[in-house]
Amino acid sequence: MRVAGALSGLMANRTKFQAIKGTRDLLPPDTELWNRVEQTAREVFGTFGFGEIRSPIFEPTELFARSIGADTDVVGKEMYSFDDRDETSISLRPEATASVCRAYIEHGMHAWPQPLKLYYLGPMFRRERPQKGRYRQFYQIGAEVLETVQPGQGGTKDIPKDAAVDAEVIEMVMTFFARLGLEGAQLQINSIGHAAENCRRGYVQKLKAALEKVKDNLGPDSQRRIATNPLRVLDSKLESEQAIIAGLPKISEHLCEDCAMQYAEVKRQLAMRGVKYAENWRLVRGLDYYMRTTFEITAKGLGSQNAVCGGGRYDGLVELLGGLPTKGIGFAIGEDRLILSLQEAGKGGAAAGRDVFVAWMGEKAQAAAIAATQRLRTAGFRVELPPVEQKFGKALGHADKLSARYALILGEDEVATGLWTVKTLVDGSQAKMSEAEFLEKLRNEVKK
Ligand code: AMP
Repeated sequence: MRVAGALSGLMANRTKFQAIKGTRDLLPPDTELWNRVEQTAREVFGTFGFGEIRSPIFEPTELFARSIGADTDVVGKEMYSFDDRDETSISLRPEATASVCRAYIEHGMHAWPQPLKLYYLGPMFRRERPQKGRYRQFYQIGAEVLETVQPGQGGTKDIPKDAAVDAEVIEMVMTFFARLGLEGAQLQINSIGHAAENCRRGYVQKLKAALEKVKDNLGPDSQRRIATNPLRVLDSKLESEQAIIAGLPKISEHLCEDCAMQYAEVKRQLAMRGVKYAENWRLVRGLDYYMRTTFEITAKGLGSQNAVCGGGRYDGLVELLGGLPTKGIGFAIGEDRLILSLQEAGKGGAAAGRDVFVAWMGEKAQAAAIAATQRLRTAGFRVELPPVEQKFGKALGHADKLSARYALILGEDEVATGLWTVKTLVDGSQAKMSEAEFLEKLRNEVKK
């Protein structure tokens, strides 16, 4: 068995382990920022009425093949798939929309109050070529709004409602980014119509014909995509193709009446909400079930991988997975990139540090130090209590290394009188005070 082989190899050469390529450890103090970002997401999404879903990290491979599409790069080349012991194929999730839709169907959520608003956060796995902002285990924060179409509903009369939902979802992401202080977030929007002859399908035919005419001037990737997925040619970042792409037919000129109306309404709704956007007709999603609204948000300081969020409407997906006709819109934020961008802008936050370092001296002082530490921690302060007695100079050096704000000096005197010696480490000033006075000082001076 491979596991046994790996184990005996290990004993023989005492391998030094390293995280697998494309994965990484997130360490303090960076994890403080990760926690702040996640906490802010929970708060902001909560104010918009979203509840959290936690779905499994692995799912049947078939779920992703059917929803994302078997001939996409994500499913065809990038999934971590393996046979379980009962020989069913399982994959680590490359994204979470499919899981959310699966859960929606599995738990009969069409009977829950509609529209259903869910958010998630957690790791995703894609075997891509690692680089700055691109990993094999990365983290997404995402949300989905799902609404099963009731008899007599749907069609043209739903357009204003759907457009308002789209705009509110986008508004929520922008609010989240603003709350984090993310600078230079730029929203781009587009409509890719829907899969019908008088709309996207007709457009794709025109696009194909136009691409055939310029085929010889395109690179091999784009040439291949003319047959497999012509919309994806519009995604190309190849310098030599940019002028050619600029001359291709635009989808905005080929939208059917309903899709055009919906797009106009989304823009009106965004304006009402004070959300600034730029239109980008080249913003596409390569999958058939995506329709109408698509959007992407870029941020600063990320180099070529500058997309921090992608989203769109996917009204057909739940039905494709065996559920009732259901509308859907959602987005996924790349948390790794969001954090990178915040760090590049100096929004990373300071090292963790401690509020109080308890420098205790003398056996009798230990019990008092433990009791004082317990009360300070209960009051919510970060306290370091050395496990063994340290000499005064060493204790202060240790406190300094931990970026402690105050040293609480507890010796026999302090224990006897009940008056603590408090040293402020930035300026070296020292004062005697009671426990109540020290707590008051901490409450006033330490930002929690
Ligand atoms: P997608 O699910 O492909 O629409 O991606 C949504 C967002 O997830 C992107 O805008 C990125 O910010 C992020 N993302 C996608 N793939 C990766 C990756 N391999 N590493 C880091 N972030 C990623």
